[in-house]
Amino acid sequence: MQQNHKQIDTSSLLAATSEIQRDLRDQVSMCAPYLKNYNQPIVVLSRERLRKNVQRFHAALPTVKPHYAVKANPDEEILKVLMKEGVNFEIASLVELEILKKLNIEPSAILFSNPIKAPEAIKEASKYGVQWFAADTPEEVIKIAQINRSAKIFLRIAVSNKGSMWPLCKKFGAEGNAVNEIIQTAVRNHIRIEGVSFHVGSQCSNSKNWLDGINRAKKVFTMLEYVGMKPSLLNIGGGFPIQLSETDPTIDDLAFDINKALESISSSIDIVAEPGRYMIGSAGCLITKVIGVATRKDARWIYLDSGFYGGLMEMAESFPTTVISQRTDELSDWVLAGPTCDSIDVLGTHKLPINSQTGDMLFVPNLGAYCTTCGTDFNGFPPPTLVMVS
Ligand SMILES: *Cc1c(COP(=O)(O)O)cnc(C)c1O
Repeated sequence: MQQNHKQIDTSSLLAATSEIQRDLRDQVSMCAPYLKNYNQPIVVLSRERLRKNVQRFHAALPTVKPHYAVKANPDEEILKVLMKEGVNFEIASLVELEILKKLNIEPSAILFSNPIKAPEAIKEASKYGVQWFAADTPEEVIKIAQINRSAKIFLRIAVSNKGSMWPLCKKFGAEGNAVNEIIQTAVRNHIRIEGVSFHVGSQCSNSKNWLDGINRAKKVFTMLEYVGMKPSLLNIGGGFPIQLSETDPTIDDLAFDINKALESISSSIDIVAEPGRYMIGSAGCLITKVIGVATRKDARWIYLDSGFYGGLMEMAESFPTTVISQRTDELSDWVLAGPTCDSIDVLGTHKLPINSQTGDMLFVPNLGAYCTTCGTDFNGFPPPTLVMVS
């Protein structure tokens, strides 16, 4: 389809003084070469930014070994960059395991962190040599013990998810008496529980959740020692946030509190984390196109070629996403919606140019994580493709 090739005017962003605004400007600028032949939504991802995020994580949390959460974005090129930067991996499924096997990633670099795993997945991972498996129920401990008694279990405990944009505590995490029951089950089934893990929720700005997790983990370590187990792993999970607004903490702000709490952990315990979004989120920017505008009741609507089913699930759940137009008029409120016929496909109200029109190109920064990987082609609308730039 023929379209208008306007210059992207980032003038309002060029004056950017804060790190956040400079970052948005950089993300939009790297998209420029992909406007010309645009024919479907595309996420442009910067290798350099990915490397910087890894380096920043290492610098902020020097005693913590990162295991990248493959689900955030399982693209092989991304995994290769991470490998080179010395990052390890965390998986939840057989398919994620297969991707890592193909890249010859050492089994010792892999944590199988899904608390409920298919027996076949435990079998395959054990065959490959993966040692560490999560569990948060007695049933899962028994399942793992029956398949691989020499496996090492880390017990996922419940922690507060207060202050995280995307809570992950509804489904997983052992609490109270359940912790003791799980440990007793391991003793009876002659399998080791040698670690503790937790997840504070995704995009978490509240360092107290990590402190809560670390304190609870220490109590579980004491319980494990009491039954003769030898704790050797503390897994502080993922949830490290992208700085989306001036009020969000930086990774260094969060690390200040976390590092202090980690000083009380015995040196015989390895400390790991499972960052997903922090590593890859800010390396990617989505380009999407306006396919229609409408006025309904009192609201103005913009329809995009990308939506809930095309990888923008988090926007539909009120994630504080910035949307930037190629056009630079005065801004007004627009309801954004995706292209499908489903009424779930609505993406919240955003400030966009008052004269927005069909054919305008929009940029949605910070979508390196949980976008391409969550997209489907429901209703015949293709999910975003991914391109890596240096
Ligand atoms: C999703 C997930 C992660 C990654 O979370 P982010 O918020 O992307 O950092 C880490 N560990 C587990 C077990 C997860 O389910």
